Amino acid sequence: MISHISDCTVLNNGVKMPWFGLGVYKAKDGDEVIHAIKAALKAGYRSIDTAAFYENEVGVGKAVKESDIPREELFITTKVWNSSQGYDSTLAAFEESRRKLGLDYIDLYLIHWPVKGKYKDTWRALEKLYKEGYVKAIGVSNFQIHHLQDLMADSEIIPMVNQVEYHPYLTQKELHNFCKTRNIQLEAWSPLMRGQIFDHPTIQEISGKYQKTPAQVILRWDLQNEVVTIPKSVHEHRIIENADIFDFELSPEDMARIDGLNMNKRIGPDPDNFDF
Ligand code: NDP
Repeated sequence: MISHISDCTVLNNGVKMPWFGLGVYKAKDGDEVIHAIKAALKAGYRSIDTAAFYENEVGVGKAVKESDIPREELFITTKVWNSSQGYDSTLAAFEESRRKLGLDYIDLYLIHWPVKGKYKDTWRALEKLYKEGYVKAIGVSNFQIHHLQDLMADSEIIPMVNQVEYHPYLTQKELHNFCKTRNIQLEAWSPLMRGQIFDHPTIQEISGKYQKTPAQVILRWDLQNEVVTIPKSVHEHRIIENADIFDFELSPEDMARIDGLNMNKRIGPDPDNFDF
């Protein structure tokens, strides 16, 4: 049972990754992201998920530097953006992210989206960065089963993580099972569906039963499904609320009821049909 905010999953290369962390998409660079990260670190978070695309790596790096937490206790993820994909351009993008973050190494570097015709070259660059020790783990994001199969057919290293949209309306069962059998850790983005699912009667009822907020119920459901989760908030009270999920356990029946809400409904782009 996952019972503490510092509990980790062990990735397929032996690296430990916290089950729980802070997402910072749309947190503004500067004070907003710095305050959010400081509040999160104070609340016990140790994992931060950013991306070159979020344009807040400088703030993330500053918050990390100003904290007293030893680097090895932190887990920092960033991602290579679509326009930088390809072998040489990924190496350059990585260097830029590392410089902005002010870090010697990154814990997890992800391919942000499966850009057709590019992601295999991008992956070769990630393999090189991994072998040289600049990143502790490498992975992908928004990869469907066929993307993973295609990538793995031609590569040396199996991705350690696949970060995808995942919430009670999009449970990704088939993809999750595929990842489990290959030892690829699934990670949820938009775990709270950006707040759009809090009013669902089933979530409301379970929330009342456990005396936990809808956000806490959904995040606990992630953990019990063995999915790494990275809810985003820039408000300290919500940052604290979202992390207060380690003192209760949803019953198998309630887990199944939340699983049953699936509608294969996305709020973000479709990885098989995006044009950016
Ligand atoms: P989330 O599902 O985490 O929802 C975030 C939204 O919900 C924000 O508007 C936040 O508001 C609000 N919120 C957070 N906690 C609570 C709460 N307890 N009660 C009420 N409202 C709450 O969405 P995200 O899209 O941000 O996903 C999380 C992270 O996943 C991102 O920040 C990013 O790191 C990653 N991501 C990755 C993607 C990818 O393609 N790989 C795509 C999208 C996201 P406020 O901040 O005002 O508190």
